Parts: sequence; structure tokens; C-alpha cells
Amino acid sequence: MCGVFGIHGHDEAANIAYLGMHALQHRGQESAGLVAADEGKLRRHVAMGLVSDAFNRDVLAKLPGTTAIGHVRYSTAGSSELRNAQPFLFEYAGGSVSIAHNGNLVNAGELRAELEAQGSIFQTSSDTEVIVHLMAKAPQPDIVGKLVHALKRVRGAYSLILLTSDGKMIGVRDPNGFRPLVLGRLKDAYVLSSETCSFDLIEGDLLREVEPGEIVIVEKGGMTSQKLPEIAERTFCVFEHVYFARPDSLVNGKSVYRAREKMGMKLAQEAPVEADVVIPVPDSGVPAAVGYAKESGIPFELGLIRSHYVGRTFIEPQDSIRHFGVRLKLSPVRSVVDGKRVVVVDDSLVRGTTSRKIVKMLRNAGAKEVHLRISAPPTTHPCYYGIDTPTRSELVAASHTIDEINTYVTSDSLSYLSHEGMMQAVGSANEKTGQGYCSACFTGKYPVQLGTDQLVTLRRARV
Ligand code: AMP
Repeated sequence: MCGVFGIHGHDEAANIAYLGMHALQHRGQESAGLVAADEGKLRRHVAMGLVSDAFNRDVLAKLPGTTAIGHVRYSTAGSSELRNAQPFLFEYAGGSVSIAHNGNLVNAGELRAELEAQGSIFQTSSDTEVIVHLMAKAPQPDIVGKLVHALKRVRGAYSLILLTSDGKMIGVRDPNGFRPLVLGRLKDAYVLSSETCSFDLIEGDLLREVEPGEIVIVEKGGMTSQKLPEIAERTFCVFEHVYFARPDSLVNGKSVYRAREKMGMKLAQEAPVEADVVIPVPDSGVPAAVGYAKESGIPFELGLIRSHYVGRTFIEPQDSIRHFGVRLKLSPVRSVVDGKRVVVVDDSLVRGTTSRKIVKMLRNAGAKEVHLRISAPPTTHPCYYGIDTPTRSELVAASHTIDEINTYVTSDSLSYLSHEGMMQAVGSANEKTGQGYCSACFTGKYPVQLGTDQLVTLRRARV
């Protein structure tokens, strides 16, 4: 769970990258970083926290140059600390290179052990650093050759943006295309980003998505493209549509908002209920609740209000205030739910703790009945391709039936969207071969062979 952004050929590269990262803030709030290239010199600033905390005018003024790349981080591999903040910047025999990564490499543990046995010294606990070491060791003289050489060894999910001291910005997406990466223009400059919402903010134009397995190289003379040698079937992460991407973004050329609305409509067809009001769990449940209300004809209302001032990184410090948890973030609107039969729509149910608290909160505010509707199938398996999900033993749907979960969260009824319904809502991600999605978190079918570390944890959870 991270966001990457890059701009090449703009007088205010760092300022634009700052804005681009701001639009990607939902993809990671733990750390933010930016590297800018100015006449062969790469300068870097990274800090913990939000983009607006990590950067100010003075910091941005110290990052001159016409090319810059940025990163917002939510750790899936490696702990949350400054040394793991990206973009990384490293020196090799041919100059300096910076790298920003969204995704998760499944064989990073094995590769790291191999590289360390050969004498490599790692500075971070991030999987991304493996790519850096493989590049440094590659025999090819040019940076693109080194990158291709390194990527032959890694498996998993990566949307990368690199910046070189000789003025190249390189974007690359893994052959399966797990994570998004789009290419656009801002006047004469080229821009790369995890999501199109950042182009809207900077008033740039979307050209196209970077294809799975494609490398785009932007330099002074323009842009060129080439393919990684490995070919795979597209398996774009369906959870980007369900929860992760911003609703105003287009992913795979499709509106995230509309896909979520359709999920809600399908859910209303599959799991109708007699009720007085449909309310979303804000913010992520809003488009699906709109769809549920439209399809069912039950009025849509805002029955839960979200505080936007509780950071995701909020650490509940003392026992005395810990139990306020969800209530700090969400509060019920009594005038909407009092005496009503309420349908609550959320995008996903992971551990079940949020839903349980929400149901209790709504009943305390006077709701007569609470029917929980989840606009995705039960989350039964962890993601190893870049979404932060807990281990299998913590996923309530991995070991409980829907009836048992309904009892646990104390709702009057609970239904999930079927896998088929979700797939119909998102449509095809690959016109040639059909669906083209990874939905391993709902099915356990992992499209790229897992590494030994992940197989061990999965096996342990089954015992
Ligand atoms: P839980 O209490 O674990 O069942 O959490 C469910 C809530 O977490 C839902 O409201 C989801 O929108 C949200 N959610 C789902 N996946 C994630 C994720 N990977 N990171 C953060 N929040 C998530």
C-alpha cells in the first residue's frame, strides 16, 4: 500500500510532485519522500507522517531541478521507520539512482538471504532494497539493462518509478500488473502516477496506463517504451476497486466510483432486506451504499459521520481511552437512525471489530434493526502483493461462517456480495483473456507463486 508519482521536464518539478503525492495520500500515511534531479545531482528529502507534515516551502526550495519522483508509504514489508522511507537513493558505478516502489515482492526474503551470503549489506528492512542490490550487481552497462536484469529475479507486485542522475525517469510495472501506474502529460512534461486523481489535481492529461510488463523511459528527447522479457496474464488487484483506490480515479480505464456503485447495486439484488434507510460506513462505503439505495429504492442518508482529524497512524496510548477507538473516528446521527430499520453498507469486513462496534453504536443511537451489507466477498486470505491485510488467523471469515460472523458482530442480518457479483461490477480488466483480476484475498488463488516465508505463515494459519 503505497503511492508513487514522477514528473519529467517541468521547472517546478518538486512542487508538482508534492501536489501529486498529496492526491495519493490515501495510499500511504506513514512516510513521504521526494527526490529531485538538478544538473546531474539528485537531492532527497524523506520524513515520517503525511505529505503536508513532511514538506514545507523551505524544504521544497532545497529540491531544485526539472525532474522529481515522490512516494507515500504504508508498510507492507519492512517496519514503519525513517530508514524504510522512500524514494531510496543510491550510488553505483555509473552514477546515482533513486527508486520508489508500490507493491510487494514475494521472494524478497530468499533473495535477500542470497545477496547477504554474497556480502551485500542492507541498510533497510524493505523488500525494495533487493532490487537496488540486484541492479548494482548487474553486468549491463546501462541503467535500463540493469533494471531488466534485476527484475528477472524478483516475483510479485511492483509499480516502480526510477530517477537517474543522467536525467532519465523510468516507470515500470510487473508483468501481472497488480498495482496501477498511469502515464500523463502536464504541458511539455511527462508525468507518472499510481492514480489518475493526481493528474486531475495538477491539471494534467491522462495519456494511458503503463501496460503490465512495460518499461517507459522518459528523457530529454522524449519517451520510449519497451517490454520486460517475462510475459504473464494480467491480474490487476480487484481490491483497488473495492477499497484502496480513490473513487475519483480511473483504474484500468474504469471509474472506481462507478464500479463501487455497481457493487452496491448488485448487493441490493443479491441480498435485499426490508428497511427504512441505507447508510454508508464513511468514507469507503459511500459509493456502494449509493448503489444499494438506488437499486433498492430505500432512501440514502448519512447515519454515521466520520472525523477527518483522526490520523490512520493514531496510536491508542492508554487503556483509559483505548475503548473509544472506532468512536473517535465515527459517530452516529441519532435523528437518522432512531427507531429505524437500518441497512449499513461497508466495502469490506476484515477482522470484524469495526462492524461490531458500529452495530453497537447504531443500536445505542436508537436503531430498531441493523442489517449489515458488505460490498465484496468474505476476506478469507491475506494479500502478499501489496495490500496490508492481517494474517489468516486474524481474518474472521477465514475460520467462521457468515452466520457465525453475524452473531459476532451482533447484526440482525449480514450478507456479502458474491464473487461473481463483484466481478460483474468491475467488468473485464483484459479484453483479450476475460477477467484479468487478482482476487486472492477472497479466493486464496494466488496468481504468482508465493515465497517460502508466505507459504510457511499460510500453512501455520491452517493448523
Ligand atoms: P475490521 O474491523 O478489521 O473488520 O475492518 C474493516 C474496515 O477496515 C472496513 O471499514 C474497511 O473499509 C477497512 N479496511 C479494509 N481493508 C483495509 C486495509 N487493508 N487497511 C485499512 N483499512 C481497511
